[in-house]
Amino acid sequence: MAAERYQHSGRFTPQAFLFMPFLAVAMLAPALLYGVATIYSPCIGITTVLAVVGYAFAAGMMGGHALRYAHTRNRLVAMVLSAFIGLAALWAAWVAFLGVMVAKAGADVPLWAVFLPSVDAAMIGSLDDHGWFTLKGMTPDGGILALIWLVEAVGIVGFSAYTAFNLVDSPYCESCQKWTTRRALPGAIASGAGMVNAVDLANAEAIGRVPAAPAGATIFERLSVQTCPTCTRMRTLSLSTVRQSTDSKGRTSESITVLVPHVLVDEAFVERVCTARST
Ligand SMILES: [Zn+2]
Repeated sequence: MAAERYQHSGRFTPQAFLFMPFLAVAMLAPALLYGVATIYSPCIGITTVLAVVGYAFAAGMMGGHALRYAHTRNRLVAMVLSAFIGLAALWAAWVAFLGVMVAKAGADVPLWAVFLPSVDAAMIGSLDDHGWFTLKGMTPDGGILALIWLVEAVGIVGFSAYTAFNLVDSPYCESCQKWTTRRALPGAIASGAGMVNAVDLANAEAIGRVPAAPAGATIFERLSVQTCPTCTRMRTLSLSTVRQSTDSKGRTSESITVLVPHVLVDEAFVERVCTARST
């Protein structure tokens, strides 16, 4: 029979909801950097992708840490609030962008007016009618510019919401009221050699018998443990496939796919596994 896996208790606190408006305002800080970067070097290419990803990641991390701080262990609440975090990131990006635009143009509009949705709608409509940047002799406007904005919006909302949700999609120790931390166990394990079954059954002897991956393997399996920082009871064991690739400059990167997530174990079990895998 498969061993029990960790599941969120479903609990959450009202603070998670109370934090959201303040979070949206706090996102104006990274949004301002993003707005300045966009306005002073408009382009459509790898830099744009990096700027979108960088901003969305920063906004998502702020949101995810707020959810963690509020002890959010309810998947539905985490999903709804992550969606809000994504939309707040988009709102902050637009307000900051229009704010920088107004300041740069020295327009006859007070800066605070960018917080009025009607002013934003009028400014966005006017930018879309005339275009606002020229690239290789072209000034995108109308439908093309709207499409560029749509792709950017999907990127910002999607990636920041994903980043925030991921931060609370991790085991939580209910008795200590602490989030667990992750640590990979050393040693590359042979891929497809029976570890999935052994971890799924939480069988320490079977886990010890699975052979190591051959030296230099670029596809292998890896065990990791989530640890409660204060007690020895709350541990979870996960198994992932790791695919390593090396680029032309010799930098190695890993793509990780979870095979068995968060099987509930304890510290004694983790020690048995570590001993078994190291001999
Ligand atoms: Zn604990």
